[in-house]
Amino acid sequence: MSATVIDGKAAAARVRERVAGGVAAFRARHGRPPGLVGIQVGDDPASEIYQRNKQKQAEDVGMAARRLKLPGETTQGELDALIDELNADPAVDGMLVQLPVPGQIAEPLIAARIHPDKDVDGFSPVNVGRLVRGEPGLVPCTPSGVMWLIREAGVALEGARAVVVGRSLIVGKPMALLLLAENATVTVAHSRTRDLAAVCREADVLVVAVGRAEMVRGDWVKPGACVIDVGMNRRDDGRLCGDVHYAEAAEVAGSITPVPGGVGPMTIAYLLANTLLAAERREGDEPTGGIV
Ligand code: NDP
Repeated sequence: MSATVIDGKAAAARVRERVAGGVAAFRARHGRPPGLVGIQVGDDPASEIYQRNKQKQAEDVGMAARRLKLPGETTQGELDALIDELNADPAVDGMLVQLPVPGQIAEPLIAARIHPDKDVDGFSPVNVGRLVRGEPGLVPCTPSGVMWLIREAGVALEGARAVVVGRSLIVGKPMALLLLAENATVTVAHSRTRDLAAVCREADVLVVAVGRAEMVRGDWVKPGACVIDVGMNRRDDGRLCGDVHYAEAAEVAGSITPVPGGVGPMTIAYLLANTLLAAERREGDEPTGGIV
């Protein structure tokens, strides 16, 4: 193996440390901690674990974190009413609704209902618009975390060829916009892309967010490239793996994220960073430096 392994666990710990410092300063200034609320609708076991992790990590950095669990048969109107209440609550700086939601709830309506300044997932149309326009807003957590990893890996983005595989609203599209903002030349590939392997081979920075186990093979990777694997897939033997064939790609890449322990830990770290930023903006503070 020749590639440098990008350690997302250690990087996430560094982000959390900075956030914890910012939270302590915020508490000292305002006499209250930044407040985060996570809403879960229904009993999805994976959502339960994610929500618990988010609450625990938020508390660990000194935030006030609440989890609200609604029954699976909650209506859109009931959820809207709760979101409105939290939008108006001065102690709440950030909120999110854990996805997926049951069929009677429409995700786009949730994204549009949460006040953009409390939308710590960065999914609201206003925050998407701000990202496209290059204006300050709240940016989705996973791509923000990826940008930190790329920066720490010492990869120069200006003028580099970046390929993002996947075009979801949560990962692929915001990822492409963030890379573009750093002056990379960005290609977004997807399920209809012709000769995906050849497109990937052009990438100095290859970000893969597809959800297909080990789809990207070693001979899809340009020698020396930085390979970021966002995918999280469960193999038949129960083990987690990414969208990139790690052993093969690591022989060719210059740097690479493992799965688990790569991008995954950065996502919650950036949820905390966004919550701190939202709180600071709501209070008119100068944002804690060096995170977003
Ligand atoms: P989506 O299912 O929303 O999007 C997947 C994207 O991959 C789509 O744009 C789709 O293209 C594209 N795609 C599907 N099949 C292919 C193919 N054969 N070749 C090229 N492109 C293809 O997924 P997400 O973006 O939400 O998530 C992607 C992966 O990242 C998942 O494994 C998910 O678990 C993981 N993830 C990890 C996170 C973390 O914290 N580490 C956070 C979020 C996601 P098209 O648009 O044409 O259908």
